[in-house]
Amino acid sequence: MALKVYNTLTRKKQEFKPIKEGYVGMYSCGPTVYNYAHIGNLRTYIFNDFLKKSLEFLGYKVNHVMNITDVDDKTIKGSQKEKVSLEEFTKKYERIFFNDLNALNIKKPNHIIHATESITDMVNLIKKLIKKGYAYKAEDGIYFSIDKFKNYGKLANLKKNNSLKERIKNDEYDKENMRDFALWKFYTKEDGNVYWDTEIGKGRPGWHIECSAMSMKILGESFDIHTGAVDLIFPHHTNEIAQSEAATGKLFVKYWLHGGFLTMKEGKMSKSLGNVVYLANIEKKGFYPLDYRYMCLTAHYRSPLIFTIENLESARNSYQRLKNIISEIRDDKKTNKNSLEEFKKAIEDDLNIPKALQVLWSLVRDEKAQGKYQTIRKMDEVLGLKLLEKETIIVPAEIYALVNERENARKNKNWKLADELREKVNELGYQINDTENGAEVKKK
Ligand code: AMP
Ligand code: ZN
Repeated sequence: MALKVYNTLTRKKQEFKPIKEGYVGMYSCGPTVYNYAHIGNLRTYIFNDFLKKSLEFLGYKVNHVMNITDVDDKTIKGSQKEKVSLEEFTKKYERIFFNDLNALNIKKPNHIIHATESITDMVNLIKKLIKKGYAYKAEDGIYFSIDKFKNYGKLANLKKNNSLKERIKNDEYDKENMRDFALWKFYTKEDGNVYWDTEIGKGRPGWHIECSAMSMKILGESFDIHTGAVDLIFPHHTNEIAQSEAATGKLFVKYWLHGGFLTMKEGKMSKSLGNVVYLANIEKKGFYPLDYRYMCLTAHYRSPLIFTIENLESARNSYQRLKNIISEIRDDKKTNKNSLEEFKKAIEDDLNIPKALQVLWSLVRDEKAQGKYQTIRKMDEVLGLKLLEKETIIVPAEIYALVNERENARKNKNWKLADELREKVNELGYQINDTENGAEVKKK
């Protein structure tokens, strides 16, 4: 079998055929560094990571590029609010972002590219678009004329309304606002000291042109894979395609892969609902970052995933149990070809990681199987769960099972049983603390 991926552009699972045999150019939209990345954002970076690791597992050489959006509407506003320079402001969040990636065992991309370092590339791209008649100057900036680009909206399956002549300056807008969008925003007082004096005027780039310029700078005018979560299909990726293809006359990206959203029980994770969760929050509750990684791997990357503490607890139980069983496995220096083949098949089917996890579990549970240790090592190159590292076992799964049992007893007001279970956990060397967020457990 060969690798098949779901391509948003064609809305089909397609066989993956890179432009250059054996080599994959892959671009992922990186963070806008104006705040901490929440665990929803991090789900998407976990998806990028196992996509890259899967491609490497299948034998491809991957050149992975990720940008850092360090200038846009939100970063400028944020730095002004904190009364620090744009650079000081964005660097702080960038550092925290990479700490989070590291904690989640996400491999750093081969190239990390900052918008503020690529202004000349953006200006050159805009100049090209002006020359070819796709861009025009208005009083507040330079805009892309969507009427001029024949296939505008194809990625998002939208029908263009040719009668629209309005413009939109904001970086983010919704489908009802299919309008000419800003490539370059002329300087206004609100921008403070953030501007570049260039041939196309004093100002700053729009968000969409940033990714077109940065991806093509490293990967060339056409490349294989572009990723993000579903929210980026419109307008961001739609506009990236328009700008890039209008400028080069070539196909920009062959395969568009979009990850599903992480949502809360009550719906979207948003500041206004006060339900935004960061990695630091779940660590404070006693979870290990890789418990969260495990949780993400239990859902297909395109499916929505609902975050609840119960789901995370259940992921932690499985993950810790898995690690405990693996810690007893000896290395017989063989590999289990059948199991590895099944694992590969799951990956090749549009990265079916939940299925791949099941294959791992079957191998681990199979008492007669040979070559377990080396096969797990190979599988973990994709899963990234540090399965063979003993030091990441914090609290054994058996202890969590008792803690969960006690929680249930408490819910049922069975105080006697709850006390007995607490005592049992105590005797085994662990301590339970009841907090307003539920029971926390640690080694005494
Ligand atoms: P941003 O920093 O807002 O540009 O977002 C960074 C990445 O996170 C982008 O790829 C978004 O598509 C993605 N993203 C934003 N919210 C969520 C969410 N709730 N679940 C999954 N991915 C998300
Ligand atoms: Zn982008």
